[in-house]
Amino acid sequence: MSDALAGYAVSESNSVGRRYKEEAPPGRGEFQRDRDRIVHSTAFRRLEYKTQVFVNHEGDLFRTRLTHSIEVAQIARSIARALRVNEDLAEAIAYAHDLGHTPFGHAGQDALNTCMKDYGGFEHNLQSLHIVEHLEEHYAEFDGLNLMYETREGILKHCSPRSAKLLGELGRRFLEHRQPSLEAQLNNHADEIAYNNHDIDDGLRAGLITLEQIESVELVAMHLRAVREKYPALTGRRLIHETVRRLINAQALDLIRTSEAAIRTAGVATLEEVRAAPRLIGFSAEMHAALQPLRTFLREQLYWHFRVLREMSKARRTIEDLFSAFMSDPRLLPPQYLARCAEDKPRAIADYIAGMTDRYAMKEHRRLFAIGENSV
Ligand code: MG
Repeated sequence: MSDALAGYAVSESNSVGRRYKEEAPPGRGEFQRDRDRIVHSTAFRRLEYKTQVFVNHEGDLFRTRLTHSIEVAQIARSIARALRVNEDLAEAIAYAHDLGHTPFGHAGQDALNTCMKDYGGFEHNLQSLHIVEHLEEHYAEFDGLNLMYETREGILKHCSPRSAKLLGELGRRFLEHRQPSLEAQLNNHADEIAYNNHDIDDGLRAGLITLEQIESVELVAMHLRAVREKYPALTGRRLIHETVRRLINAQALDLIRTSEAAIRTAGVATLEEVRAAPRLIGFSAEMHAALQPLRTFLREQLYWHFRVLREMSKARRTIEDLFSAFMSDPRLLPPQYLARCAEDKPRAIADYIAGMTDRYAMKEHRRLFAIGENSV
């Protein structure tokens, strides 16, 4: 296999480039620079203390948004390399894809979206973009990270038509139903492969689901049978890990083979043709069907487990409390957010809350609501 990028990959020569002109980085490529800027950003470091599914303080072995993003990057790079598309870009998108998540996972995002319903709403994808375009304060000459167009395009996985209209160039593909680059497309699947499989692992570890239960999902049972056949004495963590790694591998390989065939059949030769073609990255019909019961299982048995829901309901109330306290008295905000209230109070508050880690949000909640709590 040649190392050269395929003609349909994103490259420096077919890229739209950066919003603010910069000298080319000596010794590394433009997309390597994007990845490096994301890794050095403040929002990236905060991912360590943000919930994926399990609330961050529940245990040290569960995935956080940071470890999730690293796993997504690993899967995205493998797929990108196999398809001869831009591995640096795929990695950069993966590291940035969850930057805009609120504390407390989806419960936090849903709560903030509800709080913001009269003020333009809150979408975590848009927030990721907002962070890399505006909120990061790292460079002398511009706000944000001044990333390449294709990196920003990949971060914006989906958005509402209303938001798309406000975004100009970046939003246009949602209105014209055009596709993003293959590097962006494959990231959506790398994300799903990562969370479906690590949620099995975390769910088992937390004791919220059991191996017996998950054997009702044929895709999992099939790999579990293969592991047991080969290693009849294997039990516990090793049995789970051997099974989960096979599951990840099977899904990644299926995605690569199916996408390679789709690219060949579509006959795309350039990035422009990728954008105009139907979506080229995807699972086979068989894998797609096999994944459906797994998605349903995880939703019903894990995400809706009463212990998870109990944490989520506290999380929702925490976000609502923070939002309403700041809305009724913005002087409770740190000065840099208070300063932005003159322009757009709800958005300044949403940006402050969205940037919080789980533990910072809990601490801020105590400072605002618990009398006697040291507030300085
Ligand atoms: Mg994700």
